[in-house]
Amino acid sequence: MADSFDVRLEVLTADTQLVPRAKEEPPEFPSAGSSQPSFFLETFGCQMNDHDSEKVAGVLVGRGYRQVDSPAAASVILYNTCSIREKAAQKVFSRLGEFKDGQDGGKIIGVLGCLAQQEGQRIFSRAPWVSLVCGSASYRNLPELLAELEAGKRRVSGLDKDTEETFETEVTRRDHPFRAYVTIIEGCDKTCAYCVVPYTRGRERSRTSDSILREVHKLADADYTEIQLLGQTVNSYRDPSDRKLSFSELLLRVAEIRGIRRVRFTTSHPRDFGADIVQAIDSTPVLCDHVHLPVQSGSDRVLRAMQRTYTREEYLDKIALIRAAQRHIDITTDIIVGFPGETDADFEGTLSLMEQVQYAGAFSFKYSPRPNTPALHMADPIPEDEKGRRLAALQEKQRQIQSRCNESLVGTTVEVLVERQSRQENQWSGHSTSNRVISFTSSAEALVGKYVPVSVTHGGPNSLTGEHVI
Ligand code: SAM
Ligand code: SF4
Repeated sequence: MADSFDVRLEVLTADTQLVPRAKEEPPEFPSAGSSQPSFFLETFGCQMNDHDSEKVAGVLVGRGYRQVDSPAAASVILYNTCSIREKAAQKVFSRLGEFKDGQDGGKIIGVLGCLAQQEGQRIFSRAPWVSLVCGSASYRNLPELLAELEAGKRRVSGLDKDTEETFETEVTRRDHPFRAYVTIIEGCDKTCAYCVVPYTRGRERSRTSDSILREVHKLADADYTEIQLLGQTVNSYRDPSDRKLSFSELLLRVAEIRGIRRVRFTTSHPRDFGADIVQAIDSTPVLCDHVHLPVQSGSDRVLRAMQRTYTREEYLDKIALIRAAQRHIDITTDIIVGFPGETDADFEGTLSLMEQVQYAGAFSFKYSPRPNTPALHMADPIPEDEKGRRLAALQEKQRQIQSRCNESLVGTTVEVLVERQSRQENQWSGHSTSNRVISFTSSAEALVGKYVPVSVTHGGPNSLTGEHVI
C-alpha cells in the first residue's frame, strides 16, 4: 500500500461529498482509553487486494471506526490476505503467530481475503486466537460480523462465494492522492490449472457501466486524475445493464470524463484481448500506452497443461495487434517457471518468446502448488533448485531486455505524473504513461500531483532518470 501518501476519504453516495484529509493534519489515532472502536488493516498481495482494503476501510470508517497505524493502537486487527503462492500464505500465518498465547490483549483478530476463503474455518483451529474469518464476497457483512463479536460471540465467519453481487461501498478510504482504483469485474471464470483465484474469489461478476462511470465522475470531481480499472480478467468485462457496453467502449467512456488524464487497466487475459482495445488506445491519448498481458509460458505443451486457452502463436497474434498500433504501447507480462512437466526445451521456448516480444517488464514466479487446483496432483514436479535456476536465468534475460528498452528512451521526452519529492534537493519521481518509474531533477516547486514533461537522460534496468523540461 502506498502508505506514504495522505489517505483520502471518498464518499460515493449521490448527496454527499468527498472529505479529503487535509495534508498537514496529523494522523487520526485514538488517545489511550478512547472508547471509539479502531482498526488496523494490513494488506498482502495484488492491487485487487489493495483496493478491497480501501473499501473495507471505507465500510468500517462509515460505521464509526477509526483507522490506526499499528496493531497495538487498535481494538480490531485485520489482515487482508493473499494465497496465490505458498509463501504469501505462510507470511500471513507468521503474522498471526505474533498474537499467540493471548498476546492480543483481548483484541478482535480477523483474517480477510483469499487465504480466509481458501482455508475457511480451518484458520480457527490453526490459530485459535483468530475470531473472524471473512472472504471477499462477504465484506459487505463485515460491520454485522464485528457487531456479533462485540456482543460476545466467540467466532464468526463470512465465507459466501456464490454471491451475484459485486462489492460496492458507499465510502471508500483511498490511499493514493491522484490514482484511484475502480473495480469493474470481480471473480474469474477461467480455469488455469495452477490458480486458486476462481476458488477464492468466486464466479465472474461485472459491474454495470452506469455504476462505474458514476464512480469515475465522483473521482474526477474529487481531483483524482488517474484511474486504474481493475479485474482479474479486466477485459472479460460484460456490461450487465441494457447499455451493454463492451470493454473497449467502457474504456472510451471513462477516458472522456472531464478531469481524467490517464486511464489504465489490469489484468488482461490474452483470449479476450481484441483489436478494438488497441484501436481505443490508439485513438485516445488518455488511455495509457501500456498493456499488461500475462503469457505464463512460451511453450504450447505447457500452455495446454496450464489450461490457458491459447497457443503461443495465438498469443503472438495479440502482440502483433498491439505492435501495429500507431502509438508505441509498452507490453508487460507474468511468467511462471517450473510448472509440472516443464522441460528444458519448454523453458527455452519461454526465453525465446521473451526475446521476440521484448517485454518492458515482467513479473516472474516459481510455480507454487496450491490447494483445490487441478495442477496440484500433476505428474513430474520440477525440483525447487531447478525452478530457482530457471527463474534466475529468466530474470537475467528480462533485465537485459529492460536495460536495452530503457536505454533506447534516452533523448526522448515523456510526460510524468509527479508522485514524490525526494529528500535530496530538486529530486522528484513519478510514473510515465507507460508506467515506467522515472526520477528527475527540477528546480520548480510544488510539483507533486502535476503532469510534467521530462527529458530522459539515463535508462537503467528498472527505471529512468531525467530532467524536467521547463
Ligand atoms: N488473472 C491474471 C491472469 O490471468 O494472468 C493473473 C492473476 S494472478 C493474481 C497473478 C499472477 O500470479 C499470474 O499471472 C501468475 O503468473 C501468478 N500465479 C498464479 N498462480 C500461481 C501459482 N500457483 N504459482 C506461481 N505463480 C502463480
Ligand atoms: Fe487465475 Fe487464470 Fe483466472 Fe488469471 S485467468 S485469475 S491466472 S484462473
